[in-house]
Amino acid sequence: MTPVHRSSPAPRCPGPEWCTTDHSRAEHPDDDEHRSDGVAVELTLRSSSGDEYTRLVEVGLLQRQSDIEPWLVIDDGLDVHHEVTLSSVRRALGLIRTDAPTRDALTL
Ligand SMILES: [Zn+2]
Repeated sequence: MTPVHRSSPAPRCPGPEWCTTDHSRAEHPDDDEHRSDGVAVELTLRSSSGDEYTRLVEVGLLQRQSDIEPWLVIDDGLDVHHEVTLSSVRRALGLIRTDAPTRDALTL
């Protein structure tokens, strides 16, 4: 078998395991954020005024230099943008799992 020679990969982030950012491209230390690859999900949403709409959003993890924990980011690149701390997501999931009607409706 012939050995495969590849160019050097970007250095591995010394931060969180989920980070896939190429930190060599950061122009300023304050702009150097840990980001995961995003997952594309189509969501049907309803606004407070009752309007329903479907958007393809990206869900991923972000941790800025000033953050004490990662955030779950939901963004469509347009007007849908929410960030929730991972501890808040865990707390919400824990409560949902203990609420039988909601848990059963979600088939968790
Ligand atoms: Zn990183």
